[in-house]
Amino acid sequence: MNPVGGKTAVCGLIGNPVEHTMSPVIHNYLAEKTGTDLVYVPFHVETGRLADAVKGAYGLNLLGLNATVPYKTDVMECVSSIDPSAEAIGAVNTLVRTDDGYRGYNTDMPGLYRAMRFDGVEVAGEQVLILGAGGVARAVALMLLEKGAEQVILLNRSREKAQELAERINEKAGRAFARALGLTEYGEIDASRKYLCIQATSVGMYPRVEEAPIEDLSFYRLVHTGYDLIFNPMETRFMKLCAEAGARVFNGYRMLLYQGVLAFTLWTGVEISEELAAETYEQMLMAMEKHG
Ligand code: NDP
Repeated sequence: MNPVGGKTAVCGLIGNPVEHTMSPVIHNYLAEKTGTDLVYVPFHVETGRLADAVKGAYGLNLLGLNATVPYKTDVMECVSSIDPSAEAIGAVNTLVRTDDGYRGYNTDMPGLYRAMRFDGVEVAGEQVLILGAGGVARAVALMLLEKGAEQVILLNRSREKAQELAERINEKAGRAFARALGLTEYGEIDASRKYLCIQATSVGMYPRVEEAPIEDLSFYRLVHTGYDLIFNPMETRFMKLCAEAGARVFNGYRMLLYQGVLAFTLWTGVEISEELAAETYEQMLMAMEKHG
């Protein structure tokens, strides 16, 4: 890490909990390798203290913040302006200092898109299954619309939530882009073709690693590529089932890397090469091995 001096810029993460975050590894490594005088620190923010935390960070001259669970939506109330794509997604994960407060951005979705490009996963012209209809699923559906996917089918435990989301996306698309199904209604999907499937529920996350949103292998036979947004564990049960049915599989770890890379560029203006991003990814893997 760079030595800290009087001019060192400070960035950090606000969330609850933040104790197992990988973000300090990403940003402190990028700062060191790009010769940027910056340190990145996690800040545990207690329930009800979010507005105080953001105000305090601005008062302390912090250059930027990331926001994570459970603050990605609520933090929108604490910024002075919001980037239009973060506004459309309805979530902010990056705050960038401006003269009159922080401006909110969302680097999760461009991060996912950059990770998919790296992994050679095509989006344009694809028919995509999304498992889930929560905050991340909504952002994923918008990203897929923007990047030219042909159609998405949202499968969610609560069918009404999937239906509501499909209606909102279709309004934006101006066509029947999204269709909603319950999590058990996959029998209605046209089985004469295969799909990219993005796993955007929290099912299978550590510590409940033995769970998958759907168990039936016949569902996974519809999938040519399974992309789980979960990054802990590195191989989820969803990924194992996809692989068993013959699909390519990816986890959310590279999305985590690129959302950080994009935030670092927003704060510093420093562009990160693919080589440095790959090196940073290795650092994340090493840190995970070390700390679990
Ligand atoms: P939300 O709480 O908004 O949504 C959770 C989703 O999971 C809902 O669709 C919910 O269905 C579904 N779900 C929860 N429990 C179950 C269950 N037991 N059975 C079936 N479905 C269930 O969460 P987010 O959208 O914010 O986040 C989803 C996941 O995305 C996170 O857990 C995280 O792993 C991942 N993520 C990864 C990132 C990365 O950088 N790689 C960044 C951000 C998130 P219902 O509507 O029926 O309740």
